[in-house]
Order: sequence, then structure tokens, then C-alpha cells
Amino acid sequence: MTAVLDDLDTYREEVRSRLAEMDVPDVPLELDARFAVLRRWQQVLFDAGWLGIAWSREAGGQGLTPMHQLVVVEELVRARAPQPIGLIGLDVVGPSIDLYGTAWQRRELLPRLLSGQDIWCQGFSEPDAGSDLASLQTRAVRAGDEFVVSGQKVWTSWAHEAQWCALLVRTDPEAAKHAGISYLLVDMASPGVTARPIEQMTGDREFCEVFFDEVRVPRRNLLGEENAGWSIAMHTLGTERAAATLRRRVECEVALEDAVAELRRHGADDDRTRAAIGRAHIALRVLGARTRRTVARLAAGAGASPEDSVDKLVLNDAEQTLFAQLADLLGPLRATPGVRPRGLRSERWVHDHLFSRAASIYGGSAQIQRNIIAERLLGLPRG
Ligand SMILES: Cc1cc2nc3c(=O)[nH]c(=O)nc-3n(C[C@H](O)[C@H](O)[C@H](O)COP(=O)(O)OP(=O)(O)OC[C@H]3O[C@@H](n4cnc5c(N)ncnc54)[C@H](O)[C@@H]3O)c2cc1C
Repeated sequence: MTAVLDDLDTYREEVRSRLAEMDVPDVPLELDARFAVLRRWQQVLFDAGWLGIAWSREAGGQGLTPMHQLVVVEELVRARAPQPIGLIGLDVVGPSIDLYGTAWQRRELLPRLLSGQDIWCQGFSEPDAGSDLASLQTRAVRAGDEFVVSGQKVWTSWAHEAQWCALLVRTDPEAAKHAGISYLLVDMASPGVTARPIEQMTGDREFCEVFFDEVRVPRRNLLGEENAGWSIAMHTLGTERAAATLRRRVECEVALEDAVAELRRHGADDDRTRAAIGRAHIALRVLGARTRRTVARLAAGAGASPEDSVDKLVLNDAEQTLFAQLADLLGPLRATPGVRPRGLRSERWVHDHLFSRAASIYGGSAQIQRNIIAERLLGLPRG
């Protein structure tokens, strides 16, 4: 264990010093500009060997451990460097393709995902299947060496920018709900795919409804076995929860540090400010204590687990408390886009506050995480 930790310390030093030499981009708030900057940044990070660190070499990864990946994520955040744009590919669907994919899928699809040449989206939720994901209705029917897909997905982040979609489809309508689902990797340029952006309350048009009208998907794009997509989908969702918690913890800590420094610079040290910062600080300390356990599990080689649901709940609370406190400090001006009270970075705080409301919905809502904890960790009867 000591050798592993020494190795990680050396690795951290190396990442830190290489990062200090790099030109870290400023990230614009406007969505299209932000997307372009972060896509170029992803290529830079890939060239540095810092993406897919725990992935197989065949996939373009480094064959190291999730702990090494965590070191890079932490160092990027601490250096005030942004994360790459393709996080759905990197943190959500990519690890499942690396684990369950064929040699062809790993070799052909994953290096382009890592470098940001291909952006991926996650086509799971449907208008009538969100929390109850196993009720999904999008159909795929076998026709020779292809599947023909028809149906609708919704809330699909980045679908309008994506080259590929990890799509859950029903391939056996006669089977029990969970047993008739397959996991397809769909080229978004296929005829019959239409992505329509939906505006979020931040003003960003970042997610979409996506329509599939008799879309032909080659059989070799099936991930895992036909009708065995449910367990891979659970792997995808577990990976998403674990990665988001570890990354967002450091991002929130840095956001608080920067906010405190900025408030000090502007002379804001009245009781109200101190109380707000105190509340945010406590929420982040709770998150920090929780994630130390998660890091210990990760270091011991554990995979996704129902424990990730506890992390997600604690993260939701910390993130929403932090940004609500910051937004509150802006007072009545907080709802006025473009206004910078006393030079504070108000637009960023308002944006982050509004986006934080989504944290208790995406990747499985807070209520669903509580159900998982009740049933799978505490052994309570199903509701
Ligand atoms: C910013 C954002 C990005 C997203 N990106 C993606 C994406 O890229 N791909 C994708 O597939 N999906 C994505 N989603 C969708 C997300 O996964 C779903 O919104 C989520 O799973 C909830 O489903 P729903 O919206 O259909 O709500 P519903 O399932 O209709 O739930 C409505 C409410 O009822 C509660 N509820 C439902 N069932 C139960 C129950 N059994 N017990 C207790 N309470 C219950 C829920 O907690 C919720 O409060 C995204 C969502 C957001 C907000």
C-alpha cells in the first residue's frame, strides 16, 4: 500500500509541474464558445496522457488505476483548469464500453472518444421512463445484420453536438421489463436521428429530445449480449455517480475558496456573509469526510456500489447549499443577468446556483438514491 501511495505522490508531482507549464484556457459562459474551448482542451489533455488513465491501452488509455485518474482530476481543479467537454463519454459511458465492449468497439470508438474527436451522449431517459428506466419503450428490431430503432429519448445532454449515442432499447417486448433491454452504440449521423435542444433554466441549450425513426444500426454496435443491456446500464449509472462525486467535491471546494477570496477583496465581511460562508463550509466538510471513505474504497479496488448513492445525496446537498449561499449573497441583483455588483463574478455564481438544482435529478433523482439506500444498504422492504 505504501508503495502505491508513494507512486501516487510522485505521479501527482509530475502532473502538477507539467500543468504549471501549460496554457490553461479561460472558459466563457456562453455555451457554444464554452463547448469549442473545452473540446480543444480535451485534445490537449489527451495528448498529455491524462484521459482514460484507468482504461485499457487498446482503448487509448494508460492502463493505470482510478486513483491516478483522480489525481489528475484534482490537480486540474486545483490549478483552476477546466474539465474536458466530453464528460459523458469519459465518466459515464466510456468505462462501460471499455469493460463490456468487443475488441473492435474498444479500438475503433474509444480513442476518438478520449481525444474529444467524438462527443458521446447517453440515450437512457424517455418521456415515460426516467426513474423507472426499465419501462423504456424505444424499440429495436433485428433485420439481418442490423437493428432497426424507433422511439424517443429526452433530457439527452449534448445530443445535438454528439457523434455517438449509448442507447438503451427494448429488443424483447415479451420478456420481463429488465430482461428485454439491449445497449446499442449508435452513430448520430445515421439517417432518421433528430436531436432538438431544450432550454434549461440557466439559459443553456445543453440537453435535447432525440427522435429515432427507423434508424439502422449494425449488429457489431451491440454492447454486450442482446437482451442483457440492463446490467451494463447499471454499471454506467454507478460509474457516473462515483466519478461525479469525486470531481465535484474538489470543484466545490475551489469554488468556495475563490468566492471567499473575492468577497474579502471587496470588503464583504459582515455577519450575513460570514454566516453564509460558514453554512457552505460545513456542507463541504461533510462531503469531504464522506468522499475520504469513497477514495479508500477505490484505493482498495472496489467497483461501483450502492454506497455511491450515499455519496450522490451528500454531494447534492453540499453543491446546492454552496451555490445557494453564494447566490443569496448577491441579494436582489442575483436575478439580473449581466449585473456585476461591486465587480463580483455574479453571472457565474447565478449560473452555478441554477445548474446545481439539477444535481438532485440527473444520474438518478435524490428520492431514487434514498430508495436504493433503503433497499440495498439497509435491507428494508421494497415500497
Ligand atoms: C441536467 C440534466 C441532464 C440530464 N442528462 C441526461 C442524459 O444525458 N441522458 C439521460 O438519459 N437522461 C438525462 N437526464 C435525465 C435524468 O436521468 C432524469 O430526469 C431522472 O432520471 C428523473 O427522471 P424523470 O425526469 O423522468 O422524472 P420522474 O421519474 O418522472 O420523477 C419525477 C419525480 O418523482 C420522483 N419519483 C419517481 N419515482 C419514484 C419512486 N419510486 N420513489 C420515490 N420518488 C419517485 C422522482 O424522484 C422525481 O422527484 C438529465 C437530467 C437533467 C436534469
